[in-house]
Amino acid sequence: MKFKLVTSLALSIALCLTWACELDTSRAISAGMTLISAAAVSDGQLKEESRNMRAVGDREAKVAAANSNYVKRLDRLTGSLGKDLGLDLNFKVYLTDEINANATPDGSIRVYSGLMDYMNDEELFFVIGHEIGHVVNGDALDAMRVAYTSAGLRQGAASMSGAAASLTDSVLGDLLETAINAQFSQKQESEADEYGYNLMKVYGKNPASAVSALNKLAALGSGGGFLSSHPDGARRAKNIEKMISDEGKR
Ligand SMILES: [Zn+2]
Repeated sequence: MKFKLVTSLALSIALCLTWACELDTSRAISAGMTLISAAAVSDGQLKEESRNMRAVGDREAKVAAANSNYVKRLDRLTGSLGKDLGLDLNFKVYLTDEINANATPDGSIRVYSGLMDYMNDEELFFVIGHEIGHVVNGDALDAMRVAYTSAGLRQGAASMSGAAASLTDSVLGDLLETAINAQFSQKQESEADEYGYNLMKVYGKNPASAVSALNKLAALGSGGGFLSSHPDGARRAKNIEKMISDEGKR
């Protein structure tokens, strides 16, 4: 049963490709050029660039060590998710009090220790499922494209003046910040919630934990953190409550 559900989820998922992501000097120039022609950048190129951006972001963040309790807990929770879903996912914990998590289109998911401290395992699983939903549904890619296009317009002149080489890492870092802080639409949020909710059922978690996760986030208010990029927690909690009660009636 579980296998069947996972398979049906996997079928609705476009396969992620794997790209080489070595940073090299030639990328300095290509970054400037692709920024200028952002509208023509393919989805595959954007995913590859987002992997490069993550490399920059990971270097700047305080990443939890592999033997830390945070990483052990996250590993236990995410287990074989990527393999089960046919997705190229990778996870890291950032050590920060901020209550947040985010995903980029290459399948990199970053979970902040502040969020892990704030949630129990099942609530955390829902938030991770929600983030995977943004990857699978293409929302993370859409956000990256918007960031890329607007940065291309801003940076085009600087790149052409030969400053591209020195821009690379900072441009990539800025793009990452813009993309992960972009606010998703109500529709994107609802669909990502639904994805997370379904994933909980597939993995035998109590779907009510999705409601408590969203209520906990709503209780934080809208100032910064997860709710600023994934708004309207209270309404979303009610939506999940309705899903649970509708399924109970069947
Ligand atoms: Zn979201």
